[in-house]
Amino acid sequence: MSEATSSPGHDRRVALVTLGCARNEVDSEELAGRLASEGWRVTTDSDDADVVLVNTCGFVAQAKQDSVDTLLAAADGGAAVVAAGCLAERYGEQLAGALPEAAAVLSFDDYPDISDRLSAVLAGEQLPAHAPRDRRKLLPLTPADRAEARTGVRLPGHAQPGSSEPDQATPAHLRPVLRRRLDRSPVAPLKLASGCDRRCTFCAIPQFRGAFVSRPPEELLAEAEWLADSGVRELLLVSENSTSYGKDLGDPRLLEQLLPQLAAVTGIARVRVSYLQPAEMRPSLVEAIATTPGVAPYFDLSFQHASEPVLRRMRRFGSTERFLSLLQEVRRLAPEAGARSNVIVGFPGETRPDVAELARFLEAASLDAIGVFRYSDEDGTEAAELPGKVSDAAIARRYDRLLALAEELCAQRAAERVGSTVEVLVDSVEEGVVEGRAAHQAPEVDGCTTLVGQVAGLVPGDLVTAKVCDSDGVDLVAEPLQSAPVAAEDRQTAGR
Ligand code: SF4
Repeated sequence: MSEATSSPGHDRRVALVTLGCARNEVDSEELAGRLASEGWRVTTDSDDADVVLVNTCGFVAQAKQDSVDTLLAAADGGAAVVAAGCLAERYGEQLAGALPEAAAVLSFDDYPDISDRLSAVLAGEQLPAHAPRDRRKLLPLTPADRAEARTGVRLPGHAQPGSSEPDQATPAHLRPVLRRRLDRSPVAPLKLASGCDRRCTFCAIPQFRGAFVSRPPEELLAEAEWLADSGVRELLLVSENSTSYGKDLGDPRLLEQLLPQLAAVTGIARVRVSYLQPAEMRPSLVEAIATTPGVAPYFDLSFQHASEPVLRRMRRFGSTERFLSLLQEVRRLAPEAGARSNVIVGFPGETRPDVAELARFLEAASLDAIGVFRYSDEDGTEAAELPGKVSDAAIARRYDRLLALAEELCAQRAAERVGSTVEVLVDSVEEGVVEGRAAHQAPEVDGCTTLVGQVAGLVPGDLVTAKVCDSDGVDLVAEPLQSAPVAAEDRQTAGR
């Protein structure tokens, strides 16, 4: 859907195109907020835009290729094309050299002055691209020292005031929210934190996203209220590692306190946490997610593998038994809890017994959704230098096998939910087809639920209690149990 917003008296038009994950969506909406406040007409439709700002993804080879293809396609349309986001940050001047079709390649450091940068592009100025740097080094190693030091370090999605907005002394809850929504979805991401202090050997993200920095709770609550006022019913809490939230603010268990506060925001029917790090899961957090009213009992745990030798080489911790006992504890507290994970096949040194161990774990874990990824060397990572590379052909075989297994297991798990009662948040109503998600289904990455039967009058954002009557792969079909949706203020078990 295209959204155009502007302040009167200006007619510069910018189209924002977003690739990658929900964290990038937040960054795009912050850029949209900055640009709209400077008089730009902001849209998501590239037709007739003066400038197309592509918020790229730089995660793995396929994501990088998609970003480059999007930039090239946008350039074909005739508008000035500007690259921002992860790929642009990660490769800077190298990307600019390889992609002359882009009028500029911007860094996260440019975000507070994005309007000036785009104006310069439209004026025909050549903006020099940045030399990429390891952004972890911009902040102190000790998390507790970062709150002081973060002023001056640009953190996308943290809605920090720029040089022209000198209201740093104003308490967070009194500052205007620096964000402009780019769609009308009843679910929206809310960025808890950015960066990552872990050292997983396959991952390049911390180098360009930097050290872990939490956003203050009062800023998050103010943004949650603002999102609720704009029609949002489900908050998707995002970060690179949500389990670490608060550790740099002096309280490593701050998420346990924040969750009920966010769930109590008027109009919010469901809060969902994403990106949990298995090694940092603790009983109090498991309990908070599994039992807090209004918080989805949903566990997005990136196990990545289950074989101990592979996990050690990844610089991760755990084992099949430890992961299964974590899931067992989750289900002891919330038997219907949702659980999803990503796994990587073909990591350097991975043997056939390692793959068999991963398959054994997946067969025992009863996960609702499994993302299977093929290992690929990423520039600047420790894993790229590891010996024991698995051949491309073997990676392809292992991937095909694990993907087929994952699809079968997740379809089985969905079939087991037939007959259960779920709370479905309606995402869309199109030509009589009502689609939404139960508490165990996150947007974009998991399955969905189609409502059938008494669905007349339902609109996006309604929360409906329904009985699951069928499944199709990971997707469910369910019939509403009552004619009216659950009111947010009446929900005791909403999101559960
Ligand atoms: S944070 Fe990671 S997944 Fe998200 S856009 Fe950036 S590189 Fe892609």
